[in-house]
Amino acid sequence: MTTPQLCPIFVNGEWQELRNVETSPVHNPSIGEVIALTPMCTAAHVNDAVENAAAAFPEWWETPPVERARVLFRFKMLLEDNFEEIVRCNTREHGKTLLESRGDVRRGIEMVEFACGVPSLLGGEAIENVARGIDCETIRQPLGVCVGITPFNFPAMVPLWMYPVALACGNTFVLKPSEKVPLTAMMIARLLEQAGTPRGVFNVVHGGRECVEALLAHPKVSAISFVGSTPVARYIFETGTRRGKRVQANGSAKNFVIIMPDADVEPSIRGVIEGAFGCAGERCMASSTAVVVGSAAKNVLPSMAAGAKNIRVGPTDREPQPDMGPLITRQHRDRVAQLIETGATEGARILTDGRALQVNSGGFFLGATVLDQVQNDMRVAREEIFGPVLNVMRANDLESAIETINGSPYGNGASIFTRSGKAAREFKHRVKAGMVGINIGVPASMAWFPFTGWGDSFFGELHMQGKEGVQFFTQQKVTTTRWFAEGEGSVWSTK
Ligand code: NAD
Repeated sequence: MTTPQLCPIFVNGEWQELRNVETSPVHNPSIGEVIALTPMCTAAHVNDAVENAAAAFPEWWETPPVERARVLFRFKMLLEDNFEEIVRCNTREHGKTLLESRGDVRRGIEMVEFACGVPSLLGGEAIENVARGIDCETIRQPLGVCVGITPFNFPAMVPLWMYPVALACGNTFVLKPSEKVPLTAMMIARLLEQAGTPRGVFNVVHGGRECVEALLAHPKVSAISFVGSTPVARYIFETGTRRGKRVQANGSAKNFVIIMPDADVEPSIRGVIEGAFGCAGERCMASSTAVVVGSAAKNVLPSMAAGAKNIRVGPTDREPQPDMGPLITRQHRDRVAQLIETGATEGARILTDGRALQVNSGGFFLGATVLDQVQNDMRVAREEIFGPVLNVMRANDLESAIETINGSPYGNGASIFTRSGKAAREFKHRVKAGMVGINIGVPASMAWFPFTGWGDSFFGELHMQGKEGVQFFTQQKVTTTRWFAEGEGSVWSTK
């Protein structure tokens, strides 16, 4: 057993080990061991970070966008050079497979690549002669100190949704990663430091509620990006905006995949299995509910149940790699197992039961589970499970399948598998979800497009990623200009 390391914070270019503060354990979920301790920052630590970020802002803002982009180009190269090391760190503290960690880090790097284009992204508009002799132009300016608060499930990608763009736009930043997975965020922060961010431009604090409350309360914080569960997202949005801050807050989800009777069987089954059980279902874009229409049930259900059973589950911190790793904590694993039981009690039929799985490494494992005959009013249908559980709902036709989806309060992703262009078009037009897939299992948008959650999956106006991300981290200024000929219109003119 290794002695758990105390995770440092990073403030004003200095790595500080905080002694005499409360800590929270970081596990390797594959073996259940504590591998690190996260310090729980107090309001005083937060104040120090925000004040330093505020002090660094004027100089960073004056740094030309092309020079800020050069820091990000170096950052991108360092991320590539250290790719496998980051991947291993990510897998060790989160538990997802190495393959899944590679996806996590790669999606994050794509955000850096996007942010490298900042000189073009910041371009404004101009109209000559909005009135005779008068010109008008827009420019985008940074907000000041921006904050990122992130969840446990994508330790690399989600923080990278936020600060590359925020920094590229000229803001300074304070990141508070999930206390369950601080190590990947810190490894990446070291690379950003090496890439040449001046002191105070990028800072990392750690903690839980107290730390977040202090960030929300600080008058020098201009904007907050949050990703996590819906109750916290809603609270952060309401509290932050009431205090005059700009907030974008991504929340929980329930995502649906419709399988029509004419769908290609093999790709639909693969799409659903990968979508439901990838990252052990701990994804806000997990396709956790299959809505099987009419005769599609007999084509796909037996293979779906068998596919789930064949998923090899085991520790991810060694070779050979399994198909699926553990859940993040013992408590979370137990909660998901309990929800399966509740589903069965409420009348769902268990086609594949992952609870019997035995893995002897000491980790937090649960096998892939498929629940059939799930109804709208069951707890498993209403609550985000965030584990390796696929709900199957039955529908008579496309109409009632769309109705089921649109009854959900969430609105992240929804997909359809069909050969019919008409059905796909109807689905795309009417479904209430921000990210839509057609013959795609997980329709998560990539760096160049906004991550457009709807309903209780998002609170705010401007989403993360793409041009909306740039808009979120900047404010516009419109300048209207008129110039006079020498002497013309002057109150001192003697002519
Ligand atoms: P969480 O809400 O428990 O924690 C998210 C962050 O908020 C963490 O940094 C945590 O320290 C902080 N936090 C937790 N409770 C708090 C409180 N009471 N007050 C203030 N801060 C608090 O979420 P999680 O369990 O880490 O992550 C899983 C959730 O995130 C799921 O619901 C998932 O759907 C969601 N998620 C959403 C997206 C998206 O883009 N919509 C992406 C990834 C994850």
